[in-house]
Amino acid sequence: MTRSFVSAPRYVQGVGVLSELGSHVEGVGTTALVITDDVVHDVVVDGIDGPFSGGAATYHAVRFGGECTDAEITRLSAIARDRDADVIVGAGGGKAIDVAKAVRGRVGGALVSLPTIASTDAPTSGISVVYSEDGRLDGGIVHDRRPDLVLVDTGVVARAPTRWFVSGVGDALATRFEATATVESGGETVAGGQPTRAGVALARQCYEVLRSSAPAAVTAVNDGTVTDAVEETTEAIVLLSGLGFENGGLAAAHAVHDGIVSAVETDATHGEKVCFGLLTQLVLEGRETSTVREVARFASDLGLPVTLDAIGVPTDRVDAVAEAACSSRTSMGNQPGNPTPADVESALLGADDVGHSL
Ligand SMILES: [Zn+2]
Repeated sequence: MTRSFVSAPRYVQGVGVLSELGSHVEGVGTTALVITDDVVHDVVVDGIDGPFSGGAATYHAVRFGGECTDAEITRLSAIARDRDADVIVGAGGGKAIDVAKAVRGRVGGALVSLPTIASTDAPTSGISVVYSEDGRLDGGIVHDRRPDLVLVDTGVVARAPTRWFVSGVGDALATRFEATATVESGGETVAGGQPTRAGVALARQCYEVLRSSAPAAVTAVNDGTVTDAVEETTEAIVLLSGLGFENGGLAAAHAVHDGIVSAVETDATHGEKVCFGLLTQLVLEGRETSTVREVARFASDLGLPVTLDAIGVPTDRVDAVAEAACSSRTSMGNQPGNPTPADVESALLGADDVGHSL
């Protein structure tokens, strides 16, 4: 079986790097279409406008409609063509970046991923999650190409609501365990083929960094300050976890996330659901209760929800979540032992027991 590794060619992170966007755009094109989330539009434009005006490249900023739908991809692609944009920039949360990836997929040119919150590991990846007009999950597009540049301004990330940052930690905590499961099951990765040693090594490093730096980082983000711990944790959430999941593989934790999304309506974030999925995966793997409790305690101390109730899954929907988590469209196939819906249901309840026992 083949093994393959994919990545964005360039990753730049630091306080104030937003101001470098213009010079990066000059390196790959002449005209940027900057797609921004409504809430960060002014922050992004203020941060890039001065530096851009002195350079050879120009930009046009456009507000993103809020959902990554086919209609929105079409609308923004038409603006990109009108403006002769040869660089597409997605600035904001996961959805703004997802739509920018899809626009670049349609119009070509270069892509810059500019996350203004560190809430998931999606900014480095080549995947867009697309929704239908009525808000239902339509599925994912796996693009041939990754972003040409991932630009993360930690000053901006640290000023965003702490819940987003904590959610990013929740998403990234699972990466190492999902990569390990994929290796053990002989499963496949998003990159194609088997997990690479490189992908698994990055996933392991991600977990180590989070365990040592995340608690101090969350405290700092609560105060809106950037410390070494914030820089370390941001890199773990965005870069290490992003490369780790695409090249190491996804397994039960993300399958449980997908099961929750399809079976219940909840306000829980992606990372909050993945983190509960991780606890479920650890139970499913038959790990010692003390091990599961230790991970749950770490997550809970950061502010992550660790019970079914806290992530908005009613008791009478646990079987539906388990059933959906085992659909052939999720990453449950990468979990060793071919778990059945009954196995997953009992693991969900087991994880919930651990959460309540803290
Ligand atoms: Zn994720």
